[in-house]
Amino acid sequence: MKYLKKSLVGRTPYYSKEITDGIILNANESAFETPKEIIELTKKELDKLDLRKYPDTDNTLIRESIAKVYGLDISNVTIGVGSDQLLDLIFKSMVNDEYIVSCNPTFSMYKEYASFTNGRFIDVDFKDNISFEFDTDKIIESIKKYNPRIVIICSPNNPTGSAISRNELEKILNVASDNNAVVLLDEAYSEFNETNYDFIKKYDNLIVLKTFSKAYALAGLRLGYALACKDIIDTLNVVKPPYNMSRVSSVIASIAISNKHLYDKNIAEIKNLRDALFAELDNLGLKPVKSYSNFIFIKLNDKIFNHLLEKKIYIRRLKYKDEFWHRITVGTKDENEMLINAIKDGI
Ligand code: PMP
Repeated sequence: MKYLKKSLVGRTPYYSKEITDGIILNANESAFETPKEIIELTKKELDKLDLRKYPDTDNTLIRESIAKVYGLDISNVTIGVGSDQLLDLIFKSMVNDEYIVSCNPTFSMYKEYASFTNGRFIDVDFKDNISFEFDTDKIIESIKKYNPRIVIICSPNNPTGSAISRNELEKILNVASDNNAVVLLDEAYSEFNETNYDFIKKYDNLIVLKTFSKAYALAGLRLGYALACKDIIDTLNVVKPPYNMSRVSSVIASIAISNKHLYDKNIAEIKNLRDALFAELDNLGLKPVKSYSNFIFIKLNDKIFNHLLEKKIYIRRLKYKDEFWHRITVGTKDENEMLINAIKDGI
């Protein structure tokens, strides 16, 4: 990469091989397909689209649909090509060498995007590696000590599945507010737990990030959204590329969120499947971490992991404090059964 600028030397492109065969439990996608009714409604709307024309650069249709669901104004919403793009916009528009307080382990892309604008990370550990509860006192201590530009709370947290309570979150929001820090609450998985969007009206230092990639079973659309006060949304829009969302994605996402109730059954089922999978893993003595999301964090030995690979069961392996941990997406009943059987064989 001879033309790569100096500050990026040593970096390599993100790579993730697309797997099409086997049991795929490594990307936290929905265990269930997009509801049929959503697909049918979509087909009708797609027929009407004039794709010769650029999309609306203000993304009015989808922003209005989102704002309505949360009882917010359209000025409190912006959208991105996945919440990934919004992360990029957040760091691009707000960070230049400043500190960022975050937890460890958490979603790895925060560091990737923040590195482009030289964000300096302060990682706060969770209380222990059994429950991975958020350590609010330590987070607050770090805010006071480092005066960060951004405090990132991913709840439920990827990869641990642990979640922060409203009460703890408010403590962090208040201290962050006193220290002029923005709180980025990544709620990519909040539909599997509870949601805190109504805080937007109360805090002008809060950004809530959400996505259609998980509970909405629409990862293929690449559509995420940010909810915040108008001033923060305007800030993100300063660096948002024009026409960033295709007409096709906007129309489908708008139909999906306006028919949110069609997902209720699947979301409830995924939560039941998660709790059943947790119980099975626990019965095997594998000490899974209690999850509030659609995946489970667990330490497995090499033998089990390799056996799963042989059986074409794909889970996400990651290193945390010199040990391999694994994030297993909750699958369908059959997939989870095959997973448990393969783990039993591998023990
Ligand atoms: N935040 C978290 C915590 C995630 O796990 C993911 C996807 N794995 C994202 C954001 C990005 O989601 P997307 O770009 O698909 O909206």
